[in-house]
Amino acid sequence: MSKVIVIGAGPAGMMAAIQAAKKHDVILLDGNERIGKKLFITGKGRCNVTNAKDISEFFEYIPGNPHFLYSSLYSFTNNDTMNFFENEGIKLKIERGDRVFPESDKSSDIIRGLSNALSRTNVKIRLKSKVTNIEFKSNRIIAVEINNEERLYGDHFIFATGGASYPLTGSRGEGQKFASVLGHNVTQLMPALVPIEVVDSKTKELMGLSLKNVEVIIKENDKKVVYKNFGEMLFTHFGVSGPLILSGSRFIEKGKRYTLHIDLKPALNLGELDKRIQKDFNKYLNKDFKNSLDELLPQKLIPVIINNSGILENKKVNEITREERKTLVNAIKDLSFDIKGLRPIDEAIVTSGGVDIKEIDPSTMKSKIIENLSFAGEVMDVDAFTGGYNVQIAFSTGFIAGSNI
Ligand SMILES: Cc1cc2nc3c(=O)[nH]c(=O)nc-3n(C[C@H](O)[C@H](O)[C@H](O)COP(=O)(O)OP(=O)(O)OC[C@H]3O[C@@H](n4cnc5c(N)ncnc54)[C@H](O)[C@@H]3O)c2cc1C
Repeated sequence: MSKVIVIGAGPAGMMAAIQAAKKHDVILLDGNERIGKKLFITGKGRCNVTNAKDISEFFEYIPGNPHFLYSSLYSFTNNDTMNFFENEGIKLKIERGDRVFPESDKSSDIIRGLSNALSRTNVKIRLKSKVTNIEFKSNRIIAVEINNEERLYGDHFIFATGGASYPLTGSRGEGQKFASVLGHNVTQLMPALVPIEVVDSKTKELMGLSLKNVEVIIKENDKKVVYKNFGEMLFTHFGVSGPLILSGSRFIEKGKRYTLHIDLKPALNLGELDKRIQKDFNKYLNKDFKNSLDELLPQKLIPVIINNSGILENKKVNEITREERKTLVNAIKDLSFDIKGLRPIDEAIVTSGGVDIKEIDPSTMKSKIIENLSFAGEVMDVDAFTGGYNVQIAFSTGFIAGSNI
């Protein structure tokens, strides 16, 4: 029986420890005072634990190195994740977009399921145990140093230390630093799934407004479409956020110019929207223009759209010309903003970049450089969109890392 040391008690490290403990003596270390600190805040405290789409469709939702993940996602699929929790007595439910949540809407139930499996497999958990250094000789790790004071020797090590976002959860890019010291290449750590800042001050007026069923397009140099999707978004004090925006942020590169275009009525084409507006206008013929849009748009948006349409707000509806109606239609179909940039990595849901996947065996998660080291989860250069894919990646890579020692 070998002694396996897993660093990081996130979903990747916990799953790796549970699997490894079927054959080995396992110690799971985390710098935090409890396990699964980030997992606890996932899905707004509800934990979108995986996605119920067919596993073959997952790769469309993984912009960060999908091919590398084939083997792990097929070895431990979303169905395996669901079975795992059902077997631990945690009931699950499927919501819009095939997102899977615990039936209780409590992420703590997901953590409880993992905790049960950890104790049943006799994993020794050591909390408040932050790895501060790695001792190694040529291509083998000898020991890890904990809290700058204690050495822990082991035969095999798994780095499951997460990305570099939401550092208060304990994920601060430390695993990537250790991997780099050990000779691994680490690709640039960047915020992925992060809110977007826009130049326009209009968003301050719109702060708090959330929009459903809109289409968002992000264009490079106001020409090339780099992202187009339909769904939900919201306005914040600095710009925009919400599922559509977070996913779109993945396509924004530093140093390039981008614009954001929101179609507020994607289900209607220009002609259909014009007809719809005419219908409302016929109802409010003698009203001021500013009082004619209540049925079409949320209150907060009305002054912004009026301003963009160029029509005077006090103009009587019956005086509005066909040409003016056209500018109104365009203002509704294309509410646009110049993008200033992304919010910092601290606020990102996931980190893109990490330990270079070229130096990791995709079927075992073993390092190709250090013979007794494996990786699992977000510490590697992998990332996916929202929808439960990131936690599934953590489980799948954790599963094969732990099973292949
Ligand atoms: C607000 C928010 C909401 C999210 N919601 C979802 C969601 O609903 N569904 C989804 O799929 N994904 C979601 N994600 C993403 C998901 O949480 C991560 O992708 C996932 O947790 C990564 O798992 P991991 O095990 O690789 O790393 P982590 O969960 O980050 O765990 C890494 C662990 O390693 C420990 N650690 C790090 N360095 C050291 C060290 N030196 N010594 C000891 N321990 C160390 C940390 O304390 C941490 O506990 C969300 C992320 C955020 C921030």
